[in-house]
Amino acid sequence: MKEIEITCKLGCEPSAEEIKAAAVKALGVSPKVQVQHRIVRRSVDARNDILYRYRIEVFKPGEVMEKYALEEYRDVSQAEPVIIIGAGPAGMFAALRLLMRGLKPVILERGKDVHKRKFDMAALSREGIVDPDSNYCFGEGGAGTFSDGKLYTRSSKRGDIREVLHQLVRFGADPSILIDAHPHIGSDRLPVVVENIRKCITGHGGEYHFGTRVTDIMKKGDGSFEVTASDGSVWASRKVILATGHSARDIYEMFSRKGWEIQAKGFALGVRVEHPQSLINRIQYHGKYQPHMPTAEYSFVTQIEGRGVFSFCMCPGGILVPSATAPGELVLNGMSNSARNSKWANSGVVVSVEPEDLPEYASYGPLALLQFQKDVEKAMFDYTGSLKAPAQRMMDFCRRIPSSGLPATSYHPGAVAAPLHELLPENVSLRLKYAFPLIGNKKMHGYYTNEALLLGVESRTSSPVRIPRDPDTLEHVQIAGLYPCGEGAGYAGGIVSSALDGINCAAKI
Ligand SMILES: Cc1cc2nc3c(=O)[nH]c(=O)nc-3n(C[C@H](O)[C@H](O)[C@H](O)COP(=O)(O)OP(=O)(O)OC[C@H]3O[C@@H](n4cnc5c(N)ncnc54)[C@H](O)[C@@H]3O)c2cc1C
Repeated sequence: MKEIEITCKLGCEPSAEEIKAAAVKALGVSPKVQVQHRIVRRSVDARNDILYRYRIEVFKPGEVMEKYALEEYRDVSQAEPVIIIGAGPAGMFAALRLLMRGLKPVILERGKDVHKRKFDMAALSREGIVDPDSNYCFGEGGAGTFSDGKLYTRSSKRGDIREVLHQLVRFGADPSILIDAHPHIGSDRLPVVVENIRKCITGHGGEYHFGTRVTDIMKKGDGSFEVTASDGSVWASRKVILATGHSARDIYEMFSRKGWEIQAKGFALGVRVEHPQSLINRIQYHGKYQPHMPTAEYSFVTQIEGRGVFSFCMCPGGILVPSATAPGELVLNGMSNSARNSKWANSGVVVSVEPEDLPEYASYGPLALLQFQKDVEKAMFDYTGSLKAPAQRMMDFCRRIPSSGLPATSYHPGAVAAPLHELLPENVSLRLKYAFPLIGNKKMHGYYTNEALLLGVESRTSSPVRIPRDPDTLEHVQIAGLYPCGEGAGYAGGIVSSALDGINCAAKI
């Protein structure tokens, strides 16, 4: 096997003749022989002429082109149950792996199924009502359902991401995610995928229980678990996968009450930045953007005064959404449809915060960074008294002056001109003040502009708490049989890595 690379115009694929000619050359075979090929990657190269760059594996006659095959799911209706708390990517992919191995997933989910959840999200944006069990973070599919559905991960060491991508395609995602360098699904398609996963799990004998918020986990003398939910239901199993995500603050508080070990964990906090997408297209495609080209993305990372400042969860052609999980707090995130065709580009721009940065929170012990996160979200909410976001133009923020008028925003609840430079914690605010001009000067000319709006706050970047587990067994360090899993446990971030972590926990069981 050899790998070849072929470039073509955007929107095109290499022809069979082109592939054949390149393959013959690379393999050193006669043009008369049959060669097999498969496209393994497609990326956009915008450095000079804007091109698609295809990487293609080519095989000589006789060489085996192995195909990736997913394991089949088994009927588990009579099998031993494994409780999974949380139906986000970690919980769903753990369940699918259990099905493959003949164990019965019993999923307890505080939120609603994906269709009913949509109504709550509409009410959230229109009327500012936050349902603490059904919102942008909680409900079927977890935080990933109404998102951009970016499927990037840097975590190949966590496992084989092909299992995740191939299952997503099996359940309705576009097969292009298997080859795209920056695959994404989009909020208009994700609910269908999530629903198809549920149908597969229940169709093979697994169970889903919505509206079932877990309030207690008890380990009994015989080593098994009793899990209690807010509706009074009690569930029993020998193993429990805890995949409740980074916003399940009640779960961390439950651990703290029970004296089960948890640890404060660094996370990142900052603002959502919204530019006109046309400006980002111009910057990233060096003025050569054409409507048939993929909507431009960006990402950056830099260091300011010993802390990372980086873009987070960029949503090209997306919109800003309120992603608080309780009344009285204000948090923003971004989502996009598959076409990524809104007028705006938004991204979190956040600063790493470590436990040693917050000595004033030390008395909260392992919940120190969680308390800090809550306080910042409350301060943002208190400023406007609603889900309207405190906002400031980018250059005004850096010059420490209020904005006299704000540009239009995709954020449905609306924005209110505010001194974000004062509302944000000083450590964060000062680093952002230095970062924006730096990015504009060194990396993306045109990014540092008063056309860009900063909105507060982006604070749910990753978990501020870790639920520690044994690196070999993946069980909680004190409680055998309990598997802290996914983003909420502090071992994953993003859809793909959380899904992989779910697979890994299920594999251990
Ligand atoms: C708006 C938005 C956009 C995003 N965009 C992207 C993106 O484009 N790409 C990407 O990779 N990542 C994105 N993310 C992050 C991504 O969604 C998360 O990293 C991922 O969903 C984490 O998976 P998880 O399964 O560990 O937890 P979650 O997805 O948070 O799922 C946890 C589940 O547990 C349930 N739960 C919580 N507490 C309880 C309880 N006590 N009892 C029962 N159930 C409970 C919740 O309702 C939820 O369904 C986005 C997040 C948001 C909010």
